[in-house]
Amino acid sequence: MALMKDKKALICGVANEKSIAWAIASKLKEEGADLCFTYAGDAMKSRVEPLAEKIGASLCLPCDVSSDEEIDGVFKSIKKEWGHLDTLVHAIAFANRDDLKGSFLNTSREGFKLALDISAYSLVALSRGAAPLMEGRKGTIMCMSYLGSEKVIKNYNVMGVAKAALESSVRYLANDLGPEGIRVNSISAGPIKTLAAKGINKFEDILRIVEERSPMHKNVTIEDVAGTALYLASDLSSGVTGEIIYVDSGFNVVGV
Ligand code: NAD
Repeated sequence: MALMKDKKALICGVANEKSIAWAIASKLKEEGADLCFTYAGDAMKSRVEPLAEKIGASLCLPCDVSSDEEIDGVFKSIKKEWGHLDTLVHAIAFANRDDLKGSFLNTSREGFKLALDISAYSLVALSRGAAPLMEGRKGTIMCMSYLGSEKVIKNYNVMGVAKAALESSVRYLANDLGPEGIRVNSISAGPIKTLAAKGINKFEDILRIVEERSPMHKNVTIEDVAGTALYLASDLSSGVTGEIIYVDSGFNVVGV
């Protein structure tokens, strides 16, 4: 059964084949989806365009989410090329490297604004662009979060605050868009070695602790996340909105 047959999916956040967004794109494609990739800036363009071609994405567009013009441009192009949209995958986060180590107390105003803008506000802006194209199509929107939103994780710092804002945005967006039949959810993924994760100081320690203490005694893979993403993108999750779903080998449930 092709769960995403005749569905159009916008995938924001592919950097390389280790990206969570890449695994999600591959899974949705396998199930019949037509894909649009986006990239931020020229350096990313040269990485993402070959991947878009390799997977057979029909569109690949510039979208630095700090630019309202580029966000508008994406939805104008999708309207022109596809006429509508079924799924939006937001897998984007950014913070200054200096803000991902040491004391959270030292986070600068600029660093705070940057992390919240790119990692949380962008979901609101992208959802606003996507919603009119999802009219009457039972659209789905999802983003990627992390346990650092609700528990203190060493060195995650301002990104934890950004993820808290992202998760709260999921609930407000779910409430706003529910009457249109559009569902908005988040996956809270366990730690995975990706480009973004490299920015977090001593990330290896987090991976080791999850392997030691999670109920499943292993770290998750991008494919584990992609399976849940397919569930959220498809009608399999037709009654689910506003949720934060953990894909973390159960690490979040463990106390002492
Ligand atoms: P990744 O580096 O592969 O992806 C991050 C993406 O964000 C990149 O494609 C990058 O180009 C994009 N990005 C950064 N700034 C941008 C901007 N201004 N405009 C548009 N795009 C921009 O890393 P990933 O781990 O696959 O990250 C995807 C999502 O998953 C992020 O939200 C991340 O916080 C989240 N997440 C990651 C982990 C993990 O351990 N890797 C765990 C939980 C959640």
